[in-house]
Amino acid sequence: SPSLSAETLYEANVSDIGKSKWDLDSPALCVDLDKMEKNLKAVHTALKGTGVGVRPHVKTHKCPAIAKMQIAAGAVGVCAAKLSESEVMLVNGIQNVLMTGVNVTASKIKHAMELRKKYKGFIQAVDNMQNARDLQDAAKAAGIVADVVVDLDVIKRSGVRNGQPALELAQFVDKAPNLKFHGVLAYDGAVQHVEGFKARREQALKTFEPVVNSYELMKKAGLNTEIFSGGGTGTYDIMTEVPGFTDVQVGSYLFMDHQYMVIGGKNNEKEFDDFAPSLTVMATIINNSNEGKYVTDSGAKALTLNVPHGKIIGEPDFDYNAGSDEYGSVKIINPNKKYNVGDKFEVIVPHCDPVVNLYDFMYGIRNGKVEKILPILARGKSQ
Ligand code: PLP
Ligand code: MN
Repeated sequence: SPSLSAETLYEANVSDIGKSKWDLDSPALCVDLDKMEKNLKAVHTALKGTGVGVRPHVKTHKCPAIAKMQIAAGAVGVCAAKLSESEVMLVNGIQNVLMTGVNVTASKIKHAMELRKKYKGFIQAVDNMQNARDLQDAAKAAGIVADVVVDLDVIKRSGVRNGQPALELAQFVDKAPNLKFHGVLAYDGAVQHVEGFKARREQALKTFEPVVNSYELMKKAGLNTEIFSGGGTGTYDIMTEVPGFTDVQVGSYLFMDHQYMVIGGKNNEKEFDDFAPSLTVMATIINNSNEGKYVTDSGAKALTLNVPHGKIIGEPDFDYNAGSDEYGSVKIINPNKKYNVGDKFEVIVPHCDPVVNLYDFMYGIRNGKVEKILPILARGKSQ
């Protein structure tokens, strides 16, 4: 399908290669390649020797090209949130894709089995008994044995209840002739942004207790527990303390964002700086006729509605409100310099994942200049 092809869509922007990021038409989504590559390595370095691997979540970047870099850096595979996102990765050469969301409708289940028939490395999640029966029936109809993990409840969002219900579901999957059980998933979404490393660690380990109990019940019952995957950027170095845990599903670590920077890290309480903010939006000032206010061309459709707001690089006392669809309103407290219409701000994004989803491609920047265009092929693939 042409919409999956990088070549057809991005030819027009190839002429931007070599330009300074300050000369790009805005809003422009930019990733600093040196910083991103450093982040990519940092998570592996930090986890080396802990026995915990990395299964990055592609929901953050939605770029097969970046998923390939993650695999080359030593990832055991990738996670994807949805079926259409998984498909973009598989079609573009990513071999091991674990879909962390569940498929509950007949059409999606059928599509998932067709994907599994074509791509051996596609693993699906299940979190209830009826869904497991539906997967079994669809796998049988497709003439395959589908690879399945059981999603465990952590924050009362997705997942089967821990303890006996989790064990029974895993045993059902294990016995189902057309399903192969590979282990468990558990994502503690509410813990990732807890402020302060100590508080985050305590809450993460506490909320994981019932999850560990389910995992241990399955292990004792002789089930295959080769995958015990979960966690994220906020808990990547905490999950190493969870017994049996095999891999962290870090997503935001590559790009970071203002939401993550403010939670504080193990070594720096003021700023979570284990990873560097590499993802920015270039925004142009289009009006400065009101005292104390700059209006830019980059509002909610460029930066999303999220708090804390985007952070302007080099201007600590600016507040960037992206509350209007097409306009950003920047309040100035103590500007370091005077800005004119046509000047640009470089803004660290408020929350990386939904911002990436707004753009067709990102500019890969090195030393301030465009080195390459990175097509966001799974952009909008929310089905
Ligand atoms: N795993 C799952 C299931 C997720 O939903 C997410 C993000 O929402 C992640 C991993 C990645 O988390 P983070 O971006 O905090 O690293
Ligand atoms: Mn996120």
